[in-house]
Formats: sequence, C-alpha cells, structure tokens
Amino acid sequence: MKDLFNLKGKVAVVTGGNGGIGLGIARGLASAGADIAIAARNEAKTAEAVKGLQNEFGVKAIGVKVDVKEEKQVQDMAKKVLDTFGRIDILVNNAGTNIRKLPQEYTVDEWEEVLDVNLRGAFLFSRAVYPAMKAAGGGKIINIGSMTSIFGAAKVMLYSASKGGIVQLGRCQANAWARDNIQVNAILPGFINTDLTRKARKDMPELEERVNMRTPADRWGEPDDLAGTAVFLASRASDFVTGVALPVDGGFSVAML
Ligand code: NDP
Repeated sequence: MKDLFNLKGKVAVVTGGNGGIGLGIARGLASAGADIAIAARNEAKTAEAVKGLQNEFGVKAIGVKVDVKEEKQVQDMAKKVLDTFGRIDILVNNAGTNIRKLPQEYTVDEWEEVLDVNLRGAFLFSRAVYPAMKAAGGGKIINIGSMTSIFGAAKVMLYSASKGGIVQLGRCQANAWARDNIQVNAILPGFINTDLTRKARKDMPELEERVNMRTPADRWGEPDDLAGTAVFLASRASDFVTGVALPVDGGFSVAML
C-alpha cells in the first residue's frame, strides 16, 4: 500500500500539454514525480510549459513539436521520448479542437480537422506507445473525453462524435491490452476554464452563467481540477481499473436540471 500514487521514475507523454487541461494534468503528474514529454504545435508555448514544470516540480521535461494528426510525427516523437528517457509509462491523449456549427453547415474539411485531431491523434499515439508499454510490462493510457461523450448539443456534432469515439476507442484498447497490464481509461471533464472555452464564451456570452446554474458545484472547473484524477489513473492505485469513463465535472453529468 506504500506510495500508491507515487510516479517517481515514470515517464508521461501528454499531448496538448502546453496549456489548458493538458498542462493541468502535466502539472499533476509532475507533482507526483513523473518526468514529462509534451507534444504540441506551438513551440513557444511548449517551451514555457516545459520550463515551468522543471522549475516548479524539479522533474525532467521536454517538448516536441508534433501535429497529432500526422502519423510520422507521432512515431518520431515516441522514438524521441524513448531515446531521451528510455521508457514511456503514461500517455495522456488530451490534444483537442472544436468547430461550433449546426450539423448541416459542416464541410468535409472541418469533419477531417476535428475528427483527426481528437480521434485519429489518440489512435496514432496509443499505437505508437503500445510496444514500449508492453515490453516494459505495463502502462497507463488516459483519454480525454468530454460531457459531449455522454450528451449531445446542436452545435457540437463533430466534437461530440470524436469524444464519444475516444471513449469507445479506449474501451476496446482496455479489452485488448488488459493482459499486457496496460490500463486505458477516460476522463470526461465538465466545463473547464481554458482557451477552448474562452472562445465559446465569447461566441455565447450567456454560457458563463448557464454553466454555473447547470453545475451542482456552482462553478467552472480549472485545469488543476483534473490533476488528481489523472494521477490516480496514471498510478498503481488504479491497476485494476480499466475501460472506465470518469466524469470530473462538479456534478454536471448527474444533475437533472
Ligand atoms: P486548449 O485549447 O487550451 O488546449 C488544446 C491543446 O491541444 C493545446 O495544447 C494545443 O496545443 C493542442 N492541440 C490542438 N491541436 C493539436 C494538434 N493538431 N496537434 C498537437 N496538439 C494540438 O483546450 P483545453 O485545454 O480546453 O482542451 C484540452 C482537451 O480537453 C481537449 O481534448 C478538449 O476537447 C478537452 N475538453 C475540454 C473541456 C473544457 O471545458 N475546456 C471540456 C471537456 C473536454 P498547440 O496549439 O500548441 O498544438
């Protein structure tokens, strides 16, 4: 029972870990002792996040410029992390995007952008890290879903399809890889204060208050609210937990009104 949540000596890849929820999760994993590799496109933002993790938590951290849609870039990143750290114990498939429109308004290019970042990216990264996790005798994959993994809404068809998909993708991996001691789980965040939702709040000024009213905790979440659940799902404490989709939502998904 000792050190159930200790991640010292572990290496975590966090996609989209240079800001928002990804950085909140990276900070949680680093606070538990894990070394961190961030995959994202914006190099300046990544460099700042890497420096912050090193300074605040004293862990090793690197950033790699990766577009999660691109198979070769994902494979190269997995190789780079293995060359640098010698192992990959934890993968957080967090990189995500959204385009808000009515179903009839979407173009095929928009379909590809949202589905490819949110779903194909998780497929590519999970596949890229699997051999190293299997060879090491186990690993942890955490996929970031959403309330739209459960609920629908008029202007989130592509996002919701990708977020429902990522939960199902994880359940299949959980079945396939349980005997390899790889646990695959999803976190379903409620409304969290990040760049993504800042844009939604700009488009819909009433959203701020509607979320407060609809959330039993009576507030928006902050990126650090995801840290504890991520540490649990990345640690030995969750070794017999696989295939679950865990809401971290201040009660949003259990409230009737
Ligand atoms: P942000 O916009 O703050 O972060 C998105 C992250 O994804 C950035 O770090 C961005 O980095 C990265 N990213 C986007 N596209 C790509 C790409 N093609 N390749 C690599 N990295 C990419 O949003 P959030 O923190 O809010 O979102 C993080 C995750 O949480 C997403 O999956 C989102 O769907 C999910 N989520 C968010 C909720 C919320 O309320 N905020 C609620 C439920 C789920 P860069 O631009 O440098 O590439």
